[in-house]
Amino acid sequence: PLALLNDPTLLKTDGLINGQWVKGSSRFDVNDPSNGAKLADVANLGPKDAEAAIAAANAAWPAWRAKTGKERSIILRKWFDLLMANQEDLGRLMTAEQGKPFAEAKGEVAYGASFVEWFAEEAKRVNGETLPQFDNNRRLMVIKQPVGVCAAITPWNFPLAMITRKVAPALAAGCPVVIKPAELTPLTALAAAELAIRAGIPAGVLNILSADSANSIAIGKVICASDVVRHISFTGSTEVGRILMAQSAPTIKKMSLELGGNAPFIVFDDADIDSAVEGAFASKYRNAGQTCVCTNRFYVQEGVYDQFVEKFAAKVKTAKVGNGFEDGVNQGPLIEDAAVDKVERHVKDAIAKGGRVLVGGHRLTSVGKQFFEPTVVADATADMQCAKEETFGPFAPVFKFKTEQEAIDAANNTEFGLASYFYSRDIGRIYRVGEALEYGMVGINVGILATEHVPFGGMKQSGLGREGSHFGMDDYVEIKYLCIGDI
Ligand code: ADP
Repeated sequence: PLALLNDPTLLKTDGLINGQWVKGSSRFDVNDPSNGAKLADVANLGPKDAEAAIAAANAAWPAWRAKTGKERSIILRKWFDLLMANQEDLGRLMTAEQGKPFAEAKGEVAYGASFVEWFAEEAKRVNGETLPQFDNNRRLMVIKQPVGVCAAITPWNFPLAMITRKVAPALAAGCPVVIKPAELTPLTALAAAELAIRAGIPAGVLNILSADSANSIAIGKVICASDVVRHISFTGSTEVGRILMAQSAPTIKKMSLELGGNAPFIVFDDADIDSAVEGAFASKYRNAGQTCVCTNRFYVQEGVYDQFVEKFAAKVKTAKVGNGFEDGVNQGPLIEDAAVDKVERHVKDAIAKGGRVLVGGHRLTSVGKQFFEPTVVADATADMQCAKEETFGPFAPVFKFKTEQEAIDAANNTEFGLASYFYSRDIGRIYRVGEALEYGMVGINVGILATEHVPFGGMKQSGLGREGSHFGMDDYVEIKYLCIGDI
């Protein structure tokens, strides 16, 4: 698939430190999840390279922060334009290494680029405040300053957007960045870095450390231990989030964490069922179920349960599974074997505990090793693994409930609190349930809710901080109080 790039020079396989492409002392393979074929070998950078990238970022910081917001904005805007001008190639790299359908990949390029556009605009609005004095001889003000060198550690499920959502506000605020992209999807990240250089982001301001999984752990340790790195933004599993937080305790680092979810999707008796079915399908099967805001648990009220389950199953039967480059495919492969194993484990456990399979239920070996049928299992119960753990795959368990309070309690009965969804046409219920759900994001009569100008993030063990929107800049600035006397 990579032979078809319009601009073959976007296929970058080296890391980027201080404006130089770095080969590294070893290399690692990047493979196509749809068939296991090798796509490229990529620089496997390690702890020494991490030290060099951090030092380069720190050296580049004074000049970058000295630019005006508008000057940084112009460069970011150029980066946005280049990302969009190369949407097709970036989408192609993404489908090849990540597996998501090509149309969805191009959609992610637009979504990822939109954070660069948004924060290019916000770069001009890092406003401070003046405060009334407590003594007429003084004047009081608050200014915002860039925190310093920022590190971004990102996952494979959104190979571009998870980078831009962190890097764009950092750059806009005047911070240099060191990026450690996911080992499974570095090609999209490296192409985006090449476009950043073409946009005029100066050497050292954006560094990217490609690495395999062992070196990612080693690089993580260097980043956490560094006094120079002031902030870490991480998206990935709660487990790794905890490790990074613990490792950062000695340096009291600022952290933005976007971790796991266990999203509930509640359908009340008064819902528009056809709309709920559409929302359920979009929320569950996007990216083959591999997003942290994908629904993990469906709760349907008894009065509409049979109707919802029947219509939802019929909709899911229409899904086409295959290689993401094939026309009309809406579900590609899962990212790796272990991901397929987890889905299979959750489905088997649900069946063993009395779940009723309505669609799917098996691996799709006829298509490839890493494919799983879009699956719906009715009559799910709270003792099933899928009730507690994030499946991160194309499996929809459906639970039945009686009362509103029962649904709220079940939805909140998890240590996670990222996205949640519910369908209702009753205005009182919309407010009640919207306020009662312990989640950072609540979709009401919608199955998809993310966009660049809204705050994305979670409560409880789903993380810290918010990305996107004007709030998304907060983690990248220090608030400084100036008290001026002798007026
Ligand atoms: P996922 O569950 O999405 O695979 P992970 O949390 O395992 O997510 O990984 C997300 C990112 O975190 C990847 O870039 C990965 O290389 C990195 N990572 C995994 N473990 C560590 C670690 N111990 N220290 C630093 N980075 C890590």
